[in-house]
Amino acid sequence: MHPTTLIANAPPRPWNRPWWWCAKGEIPTLAWIIGIHLAAVAGAILLPLPPWEVLVVAAGLLFLGGLGTTVAYHRSLAHGGARLNPAVEQFLLFCAVLNGSGTPRSWVTFHRHHHKHSDSDDDISSPDHGMWWAHLRWLWQAPRVETTTYAPDMFKLRYRIWDTLLYPTLALSLFGGLLLTPWLGWELAWASAAWLGPVRLVWALHTQCTVNSVCHLGAREEHGTGRNVRWLALIHLFQGENWHANHHREPGRARLGLSWHQIDIGWYALLGLRAVGLAKRVRG
Ligand SMILES: [Zn+2]
Ligand SMILES: [Zn+2]
Repeated sequence: MHPTTLIANAPPRPWNRPWWWCAKGEIPTLAWIIGIHLAAVAGAILLPLPPWEVLVVAAGLLFLGGLGTTVAYHRSLAHGGARLNPAVEQFLLFCAVLNGSGTPRSWVTFHRHHHKHSDSDDDISSPDHGMWWAHLRWLWQAPRVETTTYAPDMFKLRYRIWDTLLYPTLALSLFGGLLLTPWLGWELAWASAAWLGPVRLVWALHTQCTVNSVCHLGAREEHGTGRNVRWLALIHLFQGENWHANHHREPGRARLGLSWHQIDIGWYALLGLRAVGLAKRVRG
């Protein structure tokens, strides 16, 4: 066969496909992302604002979910930058799953693959394939990465159990506000469910996605690795993930903000946990 025929018959790269095309097994991911956006917009527009206490709880869940992702998924599990007390670890994993970050197994697998290939043609979340690709589309369109290759340690029961607990936890995340019905009545309970569920989940999703999109935009030309993006600190609730160039330079360090003005609450949390004996081998 002539080589040009081979090229013409080759399947398109996933970023050249239409946005609604899903990689094998990823239809639920796209359905989830569309569903929470529709529910968030409908809830915020059609329902009244819930009591301020509910908004405080939603912000608290966002903060704990962010810590779950940055401290447990990222710094501890993906890079081994700290060893967490098992109970603290499970609590943070719960917070991360409740925040829509997926399971520890899938997160760590994709993240280690990202570090191995960052800002190269094989980086499956690279903005070189398009900003929307890097921000969202890769979540349902990128080919699966083998956990056996990148994260065999994530097959331990204490991590694998979250593959089973994922959907019940997401159901709780989405509809948990309805548990307030006896105290608030139906209308305010639905409004609370909207803000505790889809509105919070949409915020959490886009916050996390900026690490792949904004923190890698132009990185290939500028540095060869991710970028530190100061203004993202606000959106990331000062938890440190925006200091992404620091992180790519030394991924094994659990500290991402490297000076006093690079605020890094994820690092302070680890220092606090170490001080009370709930974290060991914290690499600064
Ligand atoms: Zn990166
Ligand atoms: Zn990393």
